[in-house]
Amino acid sequence: MTANVSTLASEPPPPPSSSHMGNAKKDDSKPNVIVISDAGKAIDRKLDQHSTYEFGGPWGVTAIMTGFPLLMYYLWICLWFYDGKLVFPKSLGDLQPFLGRIWGHVREDAYPSAYAWKVYGGNIIFQLVLAWIMPGHMQEGLPVPSLGYKKLVYNCNALGCFYATLVTAFLLHYTHTFRLTEILANFGHLMSVGMIVGFSVSFGTYFYGVATGDTIRMSGNFVYDVFMGAVLNPRIGPIDLKMWAEVRVPWVIVFFLSVSGGCKQYEELGYVTPNMAFMILATLLYINACAKGEECIPQTWDMYHEKWGFMVIFWNFAGVPFSYIYSIVYMARQDPSKYRFPTPVYIIMFTTLLTAYFIFDTAMSQKSRFKMQTQGITTFRKSFPQLPWSIVQNPTYIQTAHGNRLLTSGWWAYSRKPNYVADWTMSFLWGAIIGTNSIIPYFYSVFFITVLIHRTSRDFERCAIKYGKDWDRYCQVVKWKFVPGVY
Ligand code: NDP
Repeated sequence: MTANVSTLASEPPPPPSSSHMGNAKKDDSKPNVIVISDAGKAIDRKLDQHSTYEFGGPWGVTAIMTGFPLLMYYLWICLWFYDGKLVFPKSLGDLQPFLGRIWGHVREDAYPSAYAWKVYGGNIIFQLVLAWIMPGHMQEGLPVPSLGYKKLVYNCNALGCFYATLVTAFLLHYTHTFRLTEILANFGHLMSVGMIVGFSVSFGTYFYGVATGDTIRMSGNFVYDVFMGAVLNPRIGPIDLKMWAEVRVPWVIVFFLSVSGGCKQYEELGYVTPNMAFMILATLLYINACAKGEECIPQTWDMYHEKWGFMVIFWNFAGVPFSYIYSIVYMARQDPSKYRFPTPVYIIMFTTLLTAYFIFDTAMSQKSRFKMQTQGITTFRKSFPQLPWSIVQNPTYIQTAHGNRLLTSGWWAYSRKPNYVADWTMSFLWGAIIGTNSIIPYFYSVFFITVLIHRTSRDFERCAIKYGKDWDRYCQVVKWKFVPGVY
């Protein structure tokens, strides 16, 4: 433990009324690299052991693993065949025929067709090849405790790969080799293929981890470990599979499903509705944010803490792509007159989207770049678009006894999760864009707020263990969890 750190750590907590600037250490000099203290390393080792079951333990994760795929089929069926209305059996006696009808829809319209394998599999292989061969920005991740604080290097080429995908998709569509409209038309089939791939990769990665001994934080319970994952940073050649799957699979599919919806409307109506244009913009902003800020992703909790298990894998291969854009599925089946808004509503929707995006992008960037500075990185990648206030000048922070620093400037002065608030606002708009015609497109925001609240409590519990009294001090300085003055 450095003298500087122990001195700061022994300071009494500040009075609750103090301003954050008064409590945090001001960094006027060149940012210096953090040193993890011995006590910090001991805590990191503790955090790398399985201690308690999360998500309701083995029974809870079994319910999630079976329940979510069934729910996804049900919601898709309601949207595709029943005008977005939730359908139920009319009586107990109707239960069997009802289940028969549901199964009939799955069997007829969501079987994993050869065509869906070609499209879904083709995209996966294409994205893997691009990730392997395209040049990119080389970025060091955070020191990984389980690897003796070694820093993994990530080839951040998602942006180049996305541009290459855009050009390829345009050429395929233009030459009628592969019409983009067909993606949405095959939604059910593609979803089934995505689920099969999600399950296969989850079990495959688990068995690979166990066979090679490359496991971490194992509970010893088979189902639970498949769900949480066995390995932390699986790689094939230069590709970090966890980061590749997080960016290149779900958001690419989500974006092209939106584009597919736009192409379909253009072919059928001769124009694209503002609602569909909104979704194309919203999904474009998201995929572009992930790709242009890819070098910030190694600093996120998913990369340095979460393992590559069913929870992450299934969600990347099937959950996100086929349950976040139900508004597009709704629009694909309904007449535009059903979801047309007056112009001022569109202005409010677009303005709110762009504002939320601005906060999301800059909040993530401020924290990640602050963390990079603590790693000694002082020049940053300048991919398009770089928004104002992406880097906090002379940041204030809490120096923890662990060695890490907690940022208390920029958006992070007002809330401990400004990025979550902005991200959730966008998810709400993704559903609200079809109005109140169906509640199904709101699934994403309802699911997401549950995930974010649960994730926040898991994260804060972990930080409380990791930073002890310094975490309490940080919570006094940055009082609000989500929205200042509210919660
Ligand atoms: P955070 O970016 O909030 O990361 C949490 C970690 O950051 C903490 O464990 C802590 O780790 C560190 N940290 C927290 N506060 C500070 C601070 N003030 N200064 C420095 N370090 C701090 O969240 P996530 O990584 O969970 O999420 C990243 C983004 O991904 C979010 O915007 C989220 O909305 C999005 N996301 C989207 C999903 C989707 O399906 N659309 C799903 C999940 C996430 P430590 O101190 O150990 O470094």
